[in-house]
Amino acid sequence: MDIEAIYKKANAILSGHFLLSSGNHSGYYLQSAKALEDPKTAETLAAALAKLIREANIAASVVCAPALGGILAGYELARALGVRSIFTERVEGKMTLRRGFAVSKGEKVIVCEDIITTGGSATECAKAIEAFGGEIVAFAALANRGFCRRVGGVAGDSSCKLPSDTPFFALADFSFPIYSPDRCPLCATYGKPVKPGSRANA
Ligand code: ZN
Repeated sequence: MDIEAIYKKANAILSGHFLLSSGNHSGYYLQSAKALEDPKTAETLAAALAKLIREANIAASVVCAPALGGILAGYELARALGVRSIFTERVEGKMTLRRGFAVSKGEKVIVCEDIITTGGSATECAKAIEAFGGEIVAFAALANRGFCRRVGGVAGDSSCKLPSDTPFFALADFSFPIYSPDRCPLCATYGKPVKPGSRANA
């Protein structure tokens, strides 16, 4: 499956001059929500991700996603695996299970995101689950930005926050270059970077 082609067709790979949440600049931005806008595409992507996880003999009874970006991917992955779907959300900055969601002690959980960049939110989500006694058996994402080591993919680097002892599954690596603001070659041409998500199709 050509994930990049699917993302391109869905206009989920934006090109321009973007300000990332890390403060760095990039000429590309992945907008997974656009790929998931079509439920059939979402289903196809999640089924491929579920296949990778099954083939690794990893079983869980619940998929948990960090809100907001991970919810659709997590829900579709849970559907493909035939398990429960829950999500954590930030309350005063802290990832928390709300809405009556819970995991039982020893329950096996997969944490799923739409995109893993450094894995910060996914790691916080995992900690919220572990506080309930749940066991994180895998991390999963539709796309990997290239900073984290995924099963069968790139080696990642030290900016990855995911625990190294838990497998991470993703459909593809999207290793676009990023620039620190003082060395960004795009600033000269494009001026101020755009914060992705602040404008439709920015
Ligand atoms: Zn720039």
